[in-house]
Amino acid sequence: MTCLRIRRLPALQDNLIPLLECPHQRQAAVVDPADPEPVITALEQGEMELVAVLHTHHHWDHIGGTTELLRRWPQAMVVGNAKDRHRLPPLSHPVRDGNSFVLLGRSVEVLALPGHTVGHVAYVLPACITNGQRQPPELFCGDTLFSCGCGRLFEGTPAQMLGSLQRLAALPLDTRIWCAHEYTAKNVAFALAQDPHNPHLQAFAHHVEQLRQAQLPTIPSRLEVELRVNPFLRCHAPALQAATGKTDPVEVLAELRQRRNRI
Ligand SMILES: [Zn+2]
Repeated sequence: MTCLRIRRLPALQDNLIPLLECPHQRQAAVVDPADPEPVITALEQGEMELVAVLHTHHHWDHIGGTTELLRRWPQAMVVGNAKDRHRLPPLSHPVRDGNSFVLLGRSVEVLALPGHTVGHVAYVLPACITNGQRQPPELFCGDTLFSCGCGRLFEGTPAQMLGSLQRLAALPLDTRIWCAHEYTAKNVAFALAQDPHNPHLQAFAHHVEQLRQAQLPTIPSRLEVELRVNPFLRCHAPALQAATGKTDPVEVLAELRQRRNRI
């Protein structure tokens, strides 16, 4: 039975690179290696072999480390959206929405999430039972969903982003969310300004402040929490409709995103 361990490696200014390790097999996979150095250091310290590099989208701070990692581990599979293959590192495993594959003994499902970029995908490891214990689903969502926020709309429309976020909102409540940046404190400040009377958000703000004071990461988050605090997952909520002066959830999202861009 697989024994998956997930770590997030800080990189660049505020990137978090998810590193998935199976200590039993001494194999590892990485999602969106912004920078090769922390990945190489972690793998060498653990005497791990890199078997896969997964990409959520084509931005430089998500693919920047891939070439160097492949120089060291040329056998590693390289996964990304087939539609975006012209602007991703050379893919050995181009994937599409609905595809699944096996990674370190766990099943992985591909979700297309247009919005931040049109070719953005997420990878979901569904829940499984290991040694009689439920392992929660793991979501690697790049720059689509952040804790208490969402990615900028560089290529997609607000309607596309809303659809993508709704797909993520339908995952199991205990899904752990491994997003690609530590933006949570800023996102919480923005969310509080839009949704100041939300008691869940107030409690979450306190929790995040404590984590940041202890210099601890806020990632992974959990979907159950995000559904209560993240304004971009609450575009149907009367409080956000009132704050934006809009009723259509697409317009609520568009207005929230524009306001967030101005900070
Ligand atoms: Zn990006």
